[in-house]
Amino acid sequence: MHDLVIRNALLLDGRGSPPVHANLAVKDGIISAIGKSLTGREVVDADGLALMPGIIDNHTHYDAQITWDRQLAPSPALGVTTAIIGNCGFTIAPCRPADRELVMRNLTQVEGMSLEVLRTGIRWEFESVPQYLGMLERGGAAVNIAAFVGHSAVRTYVMGEAATERVATDSEIASMKEIVVDGMKAGAIGFSTSTSPAHNGEGGKPMPSRLAEMSEIQALAEAAGGVFMLTKGGHTSISSLEEIARNSGRPVVIAALLHNSTNPDSVFKDLRAIEDANRRGRKLVGAISCCPLSMDFTLHSPYVIEGLESWKPALPLKGEAFKNKLRDRDFREGIRAELSKPAHFRLFNGEWSKVEVVESKRFEGKTIDAIARETGKDPLDVMLDLALDEDLDTVFNAMLLNSDEEAVGRMLKHPSSMVSLSDAGAHLTFFNDAGFGLHLLGHWVRRLGVLSLEEAARKLTSQPAGVFGIERRGALAPGYHADLLLFDPAKVDRGPKRRVHDLPGGHPRLTTDAIGVHGVWVNGARLEQGKLRGKLLRAGDRKSP
Ligand SMILES: [Zn+2]
Repeated sequence: MHDLVIRNALLLDGRGSPPVHANLAVKDGIISAIGKSLTGREVVDADGLALMPGIIDNHTHYDAQITWDRQLAPSPALGVTTAIIGNCGFTIAPCRPADRELVMRNLTQVEGMSLEVLRTGIRWEFESVPQYLGMLERGGAAVNIAAFVGHSAVRTYVMGEAATERVATDSEIASMKEIVVDGMKAGAIGFSTSTSPAHNGEGGKPMPSRLAEMSEIQALAEAAGGVFMLTKGGHTSISSLEEIARNSGRPVVIAALLHNSTNPDSVFKDLRAIEDANRRGRKLVGAISCCPLSMDFTLHSPYVIEGLESWKPALPLKGEAFKNKLRDRDFREGIRAELSKPAHFRLFNGEWSKVEVVESKRFEGKTIDAIARETGKDPLDVMLDLALDEDLDTVFNAMLLNSDEEAVGRMLKHPSSMVSLSDAGAHLTFFNDAGFGLHLLGHWVRRLGVLSLEEAARKLTSQPAGVFGIERRGALAPGYHADLLLFDPAKVDRGPKRRVHDLPGGHPRLTTDAIGVHGVWVNGARLEQGKLRGKLLRAGDRKSP
């Protein structure tokens, strides 16, 4: 007798096989049988709905949130049953008590969380990476968790404030190596870092990993083993990453490959270089997104433009000094000059027709471009003057990248790409792509027909499981863990984003509801029952890919 039988389901096995109608049985959290006549203590009639393995979200930033919210809202309700945390090097372990404020202040800027949320929310019951992993395991979580050792936290631990100021000495690199190796021994999934100019800490200081020379990154990534994950600045070459892959023999995940309409071939060049490296026997994968990158922002914290070189003088300023800088004509000229030149990777590229006024006393619902034409003013002046008039409270939305569906469709079909970049747990007031998997199934499969249902299911499950060496998950097969998603292919989607005020201290975040999801099971337990059935996936649970 099985514990659970899901009858009459359209099974998508996660490996890309054509869908079949069958029953699936679960016993002790494991898929125990797939077949015709199965009996179980609990029977769910799927009534022809689709059943696939739970989604593996390989790019999240739940490192802080998980200490106060073991449910990891909103990911599980959106079909995610495994979340990989610690991407881009932004972890909160290791961290000495004396450095907590520094680490939180850095995250505030780069992850778009208020300092008060982090101060109120984070439960600092750890100092080292092994202690952090132990805390995750003791407390449980709604979904399975695998964690990176994050470069920026390791660098801060070894170098203190100097981590954001200079290159490391050989002995500092040796100390970092030890911490990374200890974290890996304790079960971390790999090592993550960022060289992206969009990643700045408080006051516009670059995140610590950005001060590292390539030799430091190489030394740490190769010492770590596991998966090496990097969010790449334009100056970091694919060939330098291939070298790490060659020396370590390990997979390298290269983020964030987003399509830029003002430099449309750039992302395809990266994907081609990745594919070429794979032909030479490497395991490189380009982390792409299936969602258009759009962000809400105010000039209080304009993440969208903070990566611009010309914005730098404004970064450390506050209050009136900041406003005066925004009024400054030379400052504005500098931004215009920078935006007029093409860039390899840049969040905002001067596409003013894609910047909309969302909350304002005067121009709600209009684009900056339209207002500029109406008033005969320059678009940058329109945005800054409007914000200055409204004490910087005006809310804008910018459609930044990945909005060209023909191009994104080609990226999705590329043999060296992996669907990724939800950034769940970060940028909480800017955007929310935690429902990326449902978007892939609803938009790219049903609405556009770019992918078949079984291929989309594969991209969300067995493909990332393979890259990260996550064993016995990501497929529907006897002996696999029963992480399951039951949904209606005719309705599945993510709902519109909405604002809720449920962060520590009542602070706001954006969230999304699932559409067409009929059930999510983690290790055989139905999510709707609120149990914390997720496991910490330590290195021992993973085979080497
Ligand atoms: Zn990230």
